Amino acid sequence: MSRPAVVVNARGATRWRYGHPWIFRSDVEPARIPPGIVRVEDRRGRFLGQALWSPRSEIRLRLLATAPADIGLDWWTDQIRRADRRRSAFHVGGGAYRVVHGEGDGLPSLIVDRYGDHVVAQLLSAGLESVRDHVAAAIRSALDPQSILLRNDVSVRRHEGLPLEIVQAYGVSPEMVEILEGPVRYRAALRTGQKTGAFLDQRENRELMGRLAHGRGLDLFSYQGLFALHLARQAASVMAVDSSGPALEIARQNAELNGLSNIQWREANVFDLLRALEEGGERFDTIVLDPPAFAKRKDAVERALAGYKEINLRAMRILSPGGVLFTASCSFHVGRGEFFGMLADAAADSGRRLVLERIVGQGTDHPELLTVPETGYLKGAILRASD
Ligand code: SAH
Repeated sequence: MSRPAVVVNARGATRWRYGHPWIFRSDVEPARIPPGIVRVEDRRGRFLGQALWSPRSEIRLRLLATAPADIGLDWWTDQIRRADRRRSAFHVGGGAYRVVHGEGDGLPSLIVDRYGDHVVAQLLSAGLESVRDHVAAAIRSALDPQSILLRNDVSVRRHEGLPLEIVQAYGVSPEMVEILEGPVRYRAALRTGQKTGAFLDQRENRELMGRLAHGRGLDLFSYQGLFALHLARQAASVMAVDSSGPALEIARQNAELNGLSNIQWREANVFDLLRALEEGGERFDTIVLDPPAFAKRKDAVERALAGYKEINLRAMRILSPGGVLFTASCSFHVGRGEFFGMLADAAADSGRRLVLERIVGQGTDHPELLTVPETGYLKGAILRASD
């Protein structure tokens, strides 16, 4: 199939050779080609690969294949099927997991999440949007879901000149889907929930914390209460805190669904509440600290680190001896080094002796490629007070 050709300079070509799928505007010769799949060549006319073309984005090209293969319905179906097969460990009835993690699965700008029999996807580039029908049909044939909802209401689409919208691509997606996560049941809000309905990237960490939980638990930035549900199965009691009333309303329903009555839901600002808990001399044996991304941009990193340090320091201070603290950051711009440096500073200031029991990250269904740092964003640690 003949595709329009786009020419890149040596620096652009080198990025692909290094294993990164993006080529930026400055490394691409201007071309008046509508969004779609293009053939990419170097200045001598040598074929380099096929890519998604986004004429209005700083990221002009996203590599799909270095072979000249026909990228049609069969190709998309095969790619999605293969990504799903790599997750065979998660093929449990009624479970939720990420089937396609964009660049991490070689399918740049495509997110596909499975919630039981239902799929929620995101198309995050103009090039991908132009083949939306193929992608939706491929998801259908690879995964055979009852419905496909496109949660294309993500602000990064603005950089691509795309509208923010929610589209029913197939079937009828229910408002809520009941999901089984290890021993816990929860209801995911596919249309209105954050991301595609739930934070699937912490699934493995929630199950792990469920096993480590004991005594009095505290789940900070609880959202729809998923960590709290896991903790409450083993802990004597759990206090779960979030600033969003609607999120806590679903959290309460989730607790009922699990027959758990030992969770106290509190609508509050975590910064204020932590200060009050510390001043009140309260102590907790199991603490989860899972804040939203404090640094959405590079120039916000310093302020973000100050915020992370404040909540980590206070959490360390109210941790009982022998207690366990799960702490995480999902800010891509805060690197692992900075995150662990911040934790060490907080530990020093807290005067506590904290053991780094385990370094954790995003679930294995969110693969991070070594050559594509943008595919990794979640870092975390399990700390234990050994004083
Ligand atoms: N732990 C959750 C995900 C947390 S997402 C899970 O595993 O599913 C981050 C949450 O922090 C959101 O629900 C948001 O409402 C809440 N939030 C953001 N800023 C806050 C603040 N200052 N105080 C309390 N909650 C806050």
